[in-house]
Amino acid sequence: MSLSLGFIGLGIMGRPMARHLLNAGYHVTVWNRSRPGIDALVAAGAVAADGPVQVAEVSDIVITMVGDSNDVEQVVLGEQGVLAGAHRGLILIDMSTISPEVTRKIAAACAAKGVDMLDAPVSGGERGAVEGTLSIMVGGKREVVERCMPILRLLGNSIEHVGDHGMGQTVKLCNQVICGLNILAVAEGLTLAAKAGADPAQVVRIVSKGAAGSWMVSNLGPKMVEGDYAPGFMIKLQMKDLRLALEAAANMEVPLPGTAIAQQMFQTAAADGAAEEGTQALVKALEKLANTRVAR
Ligand code: NAP
Repeated sequence: MSLSLGFIGLGIMGRPMARHLLNAGYHVTVWNRSRPGIDALVAAGAVAADGPVQVAEVSDIVITMVGDSNDVEQVVLGEQGVLAGAHRGLILIDMSTISPEVTRKIAAACAAKGVDMLDAPVSGGERGAVEGTLSIMVGGKREVVERCMPILRLLGNSIEHVGDHGMGQTVKLCNQVICGLNILAVAEGLTLAAKAGADPAQVVRIVSKGAAGSWMVSNLGPKMVEGDYAPGFMIKLQMKDLRLALEAAANMEVPLPGTAIAQQMFQTAAADGAAEEGTQALVKALEKLANTRVAR
């Protein structure tokens, strides 16, 4: 309990996650690029730092929850990054979803400074972050994973060590392939329902109880029906994840035809202005193609 924690990246996911650490009684130093995230956490009892360097200087474990590979590179390896303020024995847990290859590069740079890194991306959405019920897939050394378990358990209820550096990210990309196709499946099913004159709300209710039921049907189906496109997970982030999955697959000559189609459909929605809306806004692209409306 005497560990000092640092948290960098206080967006949709990072804010509630950092709050769980505070609620458990840890001393938490935070930094975010924009002010609102910092203010929210300081109001909850965190201490604000000037930047990643200062977070690293005063912490035993630093968690990053930012955006893409280049964002993690910037906040960890940049001139003003975590490693510039790191001491031997510091642990860095990156919980963003980024490239497995970039993760291995960052882990090597950390090791050269005596810093242990874990890649620990998450699944479960904003709701999982708020409720502390995320599914966390962890890559890195087993003994480091074990040392971090008390912290990870505050954030998730399924924590699995899946291999060495980068393997957490690889498993997360598999998760995102399955999510992306599933969102497209829900959007297509509801578009067909709407065009055929069935009640999409009733279809969601029925389907969620049968063999086609899924987290996406239960959580995003009602939002598609309500026309509620507020982001839990933004389309631009889903596009990032499918891009990362397609890149990793191409490096191994693995064809992912369904993922490529889903990626193009998210692209269509983004081109029409929905990049910062939730992934459920994919349905708007299908509505346009079919000239119908799912939302009431
Ligand atoms: P978000 O709301 O956009 O938050 C990202 C945070 O990181 C923001 O506070 C942003 O700062 C900060 N940030 C981004 N790039 C940065 C940079 N280069 N330097 C400093 N700070 C930077 O995104 P999110 O939904 O919380 O997602 C965060 C990560 O979790 C992503 O990798 C995402 O793929 C992953 N994830 C998200 C979900 C979900 O359902 N939302 C689920 C699983 C995994 P500003 O405030 O200045 O923009």
